[in-house]
Amino acid sequence: MRTKLVAGNWKLNGSLDSIRGLIGGIKAGMDSVSQAGVAVCPPAIFIPEVAALVEGSRIAIGSQNICEQDSGAYTGEISGSMLNEFGCSYAIVGHSERRSLYGESDDMVAARFAAARRNGLKPILCVGELLEEREGGITEQVVGRQLDAVINLEGIDAFADAVIAYEPVWAIGTGKTASPEQAQEVHRFIRGKMSALNATIAENLVIQYGGSVNGSNAKELFGMPDIDGGLIGGAALQAEGFLAICQAAD
Ligand code: PEP
Repeated sequence: MRTKLVAGNWKLNGSLDSIRGLIGGIKAGMDSVSQAGVAVCPPAIFIPEVAALVEGSRIAIGSQNICEQDSGAYTGEISGSMLNEFGCSYAIVGHSERRSLYGESDDMVAARFAAARRNGLKPILCVGELLEEREGGITEQVVGRQLDAVINLEGIDAFADAVIAYEPVWAIGTGKTASPEQAQEVHRFIRGKMSALNATIAENLVIQYGGSVNGSNAKELFGMPDIDGGLIGGAALQAEGFLAICQAAD
């Protein structure tokens, strides 16, 4: 039995003042979310503040990225042990913005996935196709390739302690959500691919959907058999909207 997980990716947004208000608002509404897991992924510099703010609640913290190295001359990077020390339990890896804007390759994403696991963090591995790839009929090929990079490095057993987020790139931040059927088709492909390697791991694997999820479309998306919650961008920046999505996963 899988427990749905809703994670808010705040990206490069917020101030000390605004995050205090946001976490306060989410905490105040958490009584209405009894089953689903809830996590927030703030900009790294706010992680210690968020850790203090969520103390005593069941809101978990994730990082938006993680260095594939554990220490050394890697200016600007943050290691898994540092994230762990400041209260993170998840690490997003391979978000499409990291892949497209910062050139993170499949292999680099796989190495970052490995760094998360090595440091006791649950990776949230983002995969998804570009619009032209969908239109070219190669969605499964692209998603399969992104998954294979991690499976080849870490093995299927690594997914016993990981989350996958299917995020079609054309749906991220665009207001264009994949239809529940379109999303389900790819989620079923992902679970089927994992199942061919280890049926138990595949059955227990949380596969989130991400891409313009909001309070109005979440329930239908999360009602599909292989969609186990969501990775939420824009709609995670307001407590009320984020809570509505968490409730839809409950
Ligand atoms: C994301 O950044 O992972 C995301 C899904 O963004 P949005 O919800 O804004 O489309």
